[in-house]
Amino acid sequence: MNASLFDLSGKVAVVTGCNTGLGAAIAQALARAGCDIAGVNRSAPDQTAAAVQAAGRRYLDLRADLSSIAPISGIVRDTVQAYGRIDVLVNNAGIIRRNDALDFTEEDWDAVLDVNLKSVFFLSQAVARQFIAQDGPGKIINIASMLSFQGGIRVPSYTAAKSGVLGLTRLLANEWAARGINVNAIAPGYIATNNTAALRGDAHRNRDILDRIPAGRWGQPDDLAGPAVFLASAASDYMYGHTLAVDGGWLAR
Ligand code: NAP
Repeated sequence: MNASLFDLSGKVAVVTGCNTGLGAAIAQALARAGCDIAGVNRSAPDQTAAAVQAAGRRYLDLRADLSSIAPISGIVRDTVQAYGRIDVLVNNAGIIRRNDALDFTEEDWDAVLDVNLKSVFFLSQAVARQFIAQDGPGKIINIASMLSFQGGIRVPSYTAAKSGVLGLTRLLANEWAARGINVNAIAPGYIATNNTAALRGDAHRNRDILDRIPAGRWGQPDDLAGPAVFLASAASDYMYGHTLAVDGGWLAR
């Protein structure tokens, strides 16, 4: 295997929600592979910025609330103004709301759909227009979930959104493959981040989940590093519309 297949030197990646969790690990991995990073966050991404710079890459700090699509044109404009181009988009920012389906509120429905699906589509659209304007190839990586494949429980808006991400990944791949844009997704299994703190804090649910993971452990954010670099790199140039499970074997059960 030629190591240069995974070399991202000189590339520019926009990563949403990279102040913590999976987004932080992905931004750092892309930087180690050679990308300059434009991070899109509500909160200060201090550790991520420092890690990207320690890897010898530039970090652009963009602040935006992706519960609305209003900031999207500014994200693309500011990134292009700073770096001249965009090569990779990672749609990672996401939230989860838990409640019984019988009690689930419209607010919990809309909040999750807005961040986890609507902004994913409109940011992808805006970045794809930039890829086409650059007359170059581009890579879009959406962060899906086990609940893109399974129903889950007590998370109806999250399941709807992440199932939507899988379908949207296929649709965008169909429309944009011929334009040199690879749209794929990563479906993380159960990874130890803020998103899963409530599950890990519930001894019964924690035991059930661990018992079902063939690898026998929760994933760590760095488990996403290799798959993210792969999908951002030339090594995946003939992959379109695929959702890659990184799940310790969860779906194999
Ligand atoms: P996390 O630690 O809670 O990180 C979520 C990220 O999304 C944070 O950076 C957060 O920023 C950002 N975000 C949330 N709402 C936002 C908004 N309105 N505007 C801008 N940014 C926003 O959780 P995580 O586990 O790393 O989640 C990352 C992605 O992986 C999500 O899409 C999640 O659904 C997905 N995922 C996680 C797992 C898992 O097991 N952990 C499994 C499958 C899929 P703030 O800190 O500023 O809120």
